[in-house]
Amino acid sequence: MPGSFPITAVVAIHRESDEVTGAHVRDARTGEESDIHARVTVNATGAWAGQVADLAGIEGVRVLPGRGIMIAMNHRLVNTVVNRCQMPTDGDIIVPIRTVSVIGTTDQHTDDPDDHTIDQNEVDQIARRRREAGARLPERAGAAGVDRRAAAVRGRQASPTPIRAT
Ligand SMILES: Cc1cc2nc3c(=O)[nH]c(=O)nc-3n(C[C@H](O)[C@H](O)[C@H](O)COP(=O)(O)OP(=O)(O)OC[C@H]3O[C@@H](n4cnc5c(N)ncnc54)[C@H](O)[C@@H]3O)c2cc1C
Repeated sequence: MPGSFPITAVVAIHRESDEVTGAHVRDARTGEESDIHARVTVNATGAWAGQVADLAGIEGVRVLPGRGIMIAMNHRLVNTVVNRCQMPTDGDIIVPIRTVSVIGTTDQHTDDPDDHTIDQNEVDQIARRRREAGARLPERAGAAGVDRRAAAVRGRQASPTPIRAT
């Protein structure tokens, strides 16, 4: 099962000549398979868009998967989003969400959109950045530790290439 856990996963694309006419899907919970017929089919699968285009035999949809991690600190460090004024880098935005604060990396290239590894070095680096930012944060920021961590992958368009059906 892909790391993104689509509940209804497209496993094949129906085509009639040059036209996409729907998809064959599988319910990840029950394993049940079914067909969906459509006049228009939108491929909105982010980092997986290239793989899904491949299912349709469409060449040229090149998506670069980028993996990043987010950590939730076990305190609400700030009451509004804090974004450091510098060139974008890891851990430069702190987002308060209810009782925690979320900080993340930007992303780094991976060949596999299902790559959800969490590298402890990245976690440590974010914690370090948070401490640097903490110089201007309230005193309670000093006590914050890592509560939860997660990894995700996003897709970025590679240099455009002509898209064509094979
Ligand atoms: C590391 C990282 C950094 C980010 N940085 C930023 C940022 O700086 N600024 C910002 O605005 N946003 C950022 N984001 C958010 C993100 O890039 C997008 O805003 C958004 O989540 C991408 O939307 P999407 O619809 O293209 O893809 P997704 O939200 O990934 O949606 C794709 C969906 O397709 C599903 N799927 C995959 N394969 C199949 C299949 N075979 N069948 C059916 N469904 C399938 C997946 O399960 C998923 O639900 C970041 C995300 C990550 C992971």
